[in-house]
Amino acid sequence: MNLELVINRAYQKLKKNNIKSAMLDSEILLSEAVNKSRESIILNNNILVGEKEYQFFQKLVDQRAKGKPIAYLIKKKFFWKDEFFIDEKVLIPRPDTEIIIEQILKIYNYKNNINFLDIGFGSGCILLSVLKERKDFKATGIDISNHALKVCKINANKLGLENRVRLFKSDIDKFFNGKYDLIISNPPYIKNINLKYLENDVKNFEPKSALDGGLDGISEIRKIVVKSSELIKNGGKLVLEIAYNQKEEVKKLLKKNSFYINSVVKDLANNDRCIISTKIAKWNMVTFRNNNNNRRNNFRRNDRNFKSNGDRTKYGSNFSNNENFQRKIPGRNNHNAAKLIEKYNNLAREALSGGDKILSENYFQHADHFTRVQNEQENFKKTRFALDNTESKNSETDKSEDEKVKKEESKEKVEAKVALANN
Ligand code: GLN
Repeated sequence: MNLELVINRAYQKLKKNNIKSAMLDSEILLSEAVNKSRESIILNNNILVGEKEYQFFQKLVDQRAKGKPIAYLIKKKFFWKDEFFIDEKVLIPRPDTEIIIEQILKIYNYKNNINFLDIGFGSGCILLSVLKERKDFKATGIDISNHALKVCKINANKLGLENRVRLFKSDIDKFFNGKYDLIISNPPYIKNINLKYLENDVKNFEPKSALDGGLDGISEIRKIVVKSSELIKNGGKLVLEIAYNQKEEVKKLLKKNSFYINSVVKDLANNDRCIISTKIAKWNMVTFRNNNNNRRNNFRRNDRNFKSNGDRTKYGSNFSNNENFQRKIPGRNNHNAAKLIEKYNNLAREALSGGDKILSENYFQHADHFTRVQNEQENFKKTRFALDNTESKNSETDKSEDEKVKKEESKEKVEAKVALANN
């Protein structure tokens, strides 16, 4: 049989089985079976096909007729600028995910030496494409699948990038290694009940663990955001792929975990697909939320205890043990703000009735200053109260097996309380 006849038969079979891209798929599979480019098959379609090659091709067509994706049959998929080795245990790279690469290249146009983490790397297509584009970057990848580790290593070797990447088999919950300038993730984000509505190719063949976002669709995203808040440097970026309808929920989640939202980027189909945020020091959020910039700057300038030693990362990871956070307000507490407000208001009034407007203005400003100090003290008390409460709860439960999980939960509670107190 010649190539043309073989292709036509395959086309008919795929079409009968509702495969939309029947002709293209037949050509791709035949090109794989006879080990020739698609172009040469089309141009020389009267060449005869050998028996072995024909048998192999029939096997591929049978599997495609059952819905198995082409990428799993030919074990490769093109993503960004390279071809990646793929098998059934990793998600097939999607063109939409390329916007993550685009955005990262935009953000780090001039910066060197970025140390980034990819959570749930799968085939490694995101992390390796970024590494290939930026020669000074180093990557760490984690994935719960041991098999993904193998696939990603194959791809890293293929692209000559193995020296700039460290891979770990780990759940994000159990990962405590390092501090990163950038965290990237295309996590599973499909609502559990919606998995059944996915295309058959996806639903029946791709790994559930790479798609299933739990009951609400953002269970994995939630874990990633909470953990990234610890693993990322202050000022570092988090770039996440999300579902088209998760923008608002994920924004809320990010804000709650000390991230500032930079932008939400749309995919090729004009759906929200990628959310970019920046980690902000936690004490900044807690102490200064709802306050204006002026006040913040005055406060810092006036505070001799403020250590600007550049070790900002401390604030992010554990603000209850944060020296700056604890020292800052108690210093202020030495003032009896209420008394001082009263004193300077009286002096201001006296000066005004004595006709000295400038002196009076000066005293009013003093009074104003101590009003702000008083507000700070109250905010601090509320925060402190929330912390004390959860710390004492922690000490009772610390002995239990899921110590870490509980700590995470109580941390979330503190943040919720702090947010409430500040509203
Ligand atoms: N965008 C993918 C799909 O629609 C889902 C990938 C994911 O959950 N991360 O199939």
